Amino acid sequence: MRQLILVRYGEIYLKGLNRPYFIRTLVNRIKQAVRPFGGKVWLNDSRIFVSDMTDMEACMEKVRKVFGVHSLCPAIEMDKSDFNAVCEQAAEMMKDIRGTFKVDSRRSDKRYPMTSPEINMQLGGYVLSRCPDLKVDIHKPEYVMNVEIRDHAYLYVRVIEAVGGMPVGTGGKATLLLSGGIDSPVAGYCIAKRGVEISAVHFHSYPYTSERAKEKVLTLAKQLSEYCCGIKVYVVPFTEPQLQIHEKCPEEYGTLIMRRFMMRIAARIARNEGSKALITGESLGQVASQTIEALCCTDAVADMPVFRPLIGNDKIEIIRIAEKIGTYETSCEPYEDCCTVFTPRHPATHPKMDHVERAEACLDIEALVSAAVEGTEVIEL
Ligand code: ATP
Ligand code: MG
Repeated sequence: MRQLILVRYGEIYLKGLNRPYFIRTLVNRIKQAVRPFGGKVWLNDSRIFVSDMTDMEACMEKVRKVFGVHSLCPAIEMDKSDFNAVCEQAAEMMKDIRGTFKVDSRRSDKRYPMTSPEINMQLGGYVLSRCPDLKVDIHKPEYVMNVEIRDHAYLYVRVIEAVGGMPVGTGGKATLLLSGGIDSPVAGYCIAKRGVEISAVHFHSYPYTSERAKEKVLTLAKQLSEYCCGIKVYVVPFTEPQLQIHEKCPEEYGTLIMRRFMMRIAARIARNEGSKALITGESLGQVASQTIEALCCTDAVADMPVFRPLIGNDKIEIIRIAEKIGTYETSCEPYEDCCTVFTPRHPATHPKMDHVERAEACLDIEALVSAAVEGTEVIEL
């Protein structure tokens, strides 16, 4: 008999012929996550198991964050042939619990001498006889004693909800425009959750933005990397494009032209490293540069798909996710972003594409983009 973690995966079940590929990737991601705890990870009979880890709770917290994991259960694995011992163990696990319960058993070993209803009845009866504070409620129990009969018997009560999604790497690669705000880390999380490997591009405008502002973004990237299995951050010098836009372009288009530069530079970095899409934290109507017309103007220069997973979310919904994934507090630290430098007083909210193109025609776009890409610092987290 031993204690281990039983890992259940969710949506991968829906996959057809390439399901083994998704499962193999998930197992590798879990192996990566539990490495600091020295755990063993293996797949058996549509469940993934983790055993022999140095710290069970800390290890579960890590596995909970692996995309593709639906839930996990700290379980007891034991010999299934001695049913009395299984009942004894179940009663031991329930002995400090008060309230209502039921037994939910599943048999993948169809040669086991008892059916699932028989296991439920007999094991439930035994637990009741040993635990006077428990009552049976098969419709809405407070606790469920789960029994899975496989190569061994597995018993568990606690089921910990995990992050869900698809294993990172199964969905290709995309590049996140990462600011120090609340929205963009959440956007990165949402797309990584669908199995996409993420890299990040951050624009900074030293000395208008500080070293502390950059450190904050690296902290956010590190927090995000807990879910994304590591992240490469490209820190782009953005002072020169910003100064030139500020000096030479009409003020009302300043922010929009700046955002078009961000897209061009990010798309070039993305292409250089094999990313197939960009990700931003934009949300419709949040600010002047996030109206439909403004988004059309920024999309036009991206030459790859731009994913905006938060486009239909309210700020309050975005904050809720940020709190859940642990980036909110960092995002609230009060450091400036390059977007807040040289902000126009009256930005155009319904810009026309040809006006914007004319407004930026005085700039040497290619030279500015190339210089920014060449000056980029790469940091692996
Ligand atoms: P918040 O709106 O919470 O202040 P934000 O990150 O969404 O933060 P916005 O000004 O709304 O900031 O910017 C819209 C999007 O543009 C961001 O979600 C992000 O994808 C991108 N962005 C903004 N500033 C930067 C930056 N300095 N570096 C990289 N991407 C940026
Ligand atoms: Mg925003």
